[in-house]
Amino acid sequence: MSRGNYEGVDIPFGRPILEEEEKNAVSQVLEGPILVHGPISELFESRFGEITGADGACAVSSCTAALHLAFFDSQIGAGDEVLVPSLTHVATVHAVSLTGATPVFVDCDPVTGNIDLVKMERAITDRTKAIAVVHFLGVPVDMRVVMDIANKKDLVVVEDCALAMGATISGKHVGLFGDYGCFSFYPVKHLTTGEGGMLISKDKTRVDSVKKLRAFCVDRTHAERNSLPGWYDVSGVGFNYRMGEINAAIGIEQLRRLPSFLTQRLKNFTILNESISEYQDIRVLGAGGRILQSSYYCMNVVFEDVTRKKRDLIIRKMKEKGIGTSIYYPQPVPCFTAYAGLSIDRQAFEIAKNVCEKSISFPVGPHLNEQDMMRIADAIREVIR
Ligand SMILES: *Cc1c(COP(=O)(O)O)cnc(C)c1O
Repeated sequence: MSRGNYEGVDIPFGRPILEEEEKNAVSQVLEGPILVHGPISELFESRFGEITGADGACAVSSCTAALHLAFFDSQIGAGDEVLVPSLTHVATVHAVSLTGATPVFVDCDPVTGNIDLVKMERAITDRTKAIAVVHFLGVPVDMRVVMDIANKKDLVVVEDCALAMGATISGKHVGLFGDYGCFSFYPVKHLTTGEGGMLISKDKTRVDSVKKLRAFCVDRTHAERNSLPGWYDVSGVGFNYRMGEINAAIGIEQLRRLPSFLTQRLKNFTILNESISEYQDIRVLGAGGRILQSSYYCMNVVFEDVTRKKRDLIIRKMKEKGIGTSIYYPQPVPCFTAYAGLSIDRQAFEIAKNVCEKSISFPVGPHLNEQDMMRIADAIREVIR
């Protein structure tokens, strides 16, 4: 793989690692007649289930599709409230809005960036039907606490695991604590299929139900249609959120690389963390621990005494030095124009706003090696001096 120049920098924030194996796998699909409804996506699902320990897995077209299916399958809709973190990708909240339910924003914990569990419990009303939690940048939300609260009130729990492939709590993979776990295979996530996503659950009946919704609610699989070709019934309203065979073929090869990807992420994170630990005005957002095992999506550094303008200047200077960074996220979701109509008080996103304005996310992905990490550390040192 040539490193080349990408995003205008030579150390990009993220970059998919695709090699001969992925190319061969795609070629094999192209040589055959089956592009959807085939054995490759089923194999990808079963491999994904084995690796995470899920009772079932459903491959879909994106994580957003997985999230939408999860809320739709829970029969959440108009009049219902769903608790969502203010600090997340907008997809988490869009998936709720698409069902007609009302997202209720909850601020984040300043140490991890994850949803504040005390504020979350306080936000529950008689109309609350579900909770969406997001394992922010791969650091697990403490699902033991979430499930205690959810079980008391009989709430559905959807885990957004888009950045949490490989993250575990006491050895159990995230996505298996709540009712649904949703993953993303967008190019710069832990694994890629080009575009794609996966829904898993500890409860196979939920996965089976989602599998129907994924393909129009047609009442039989492609294979079952063979006795009378073309005939089927439709049992409800559904989507087309399928994953194709080409994408699944890439996913299977990416899963083989996952252990080495995760090892490199941890290694890169550790190098960077140690080399910037001497600075007192900067704080690294929660790195997880032994029980709450992170998947190390990136290193989110909060520059405590810095204004947003100055933070943006640091980002530009890093770019001049050839180092790509990102911001998680540009704004809390309730501050986006799309959600400005929901009347919410500032308390629902005050801490999230602080993270959005003062943090910079540095790359630790497996596309980078030890030398790259030293270069990033040196650049941070020079820029903040
Ligand atoms: C990337 C991401 C999504 C959206 O994933 P897609 O596969 O692009 O739909 C949702 N939630 C979080 C936290 C993400 O990082």
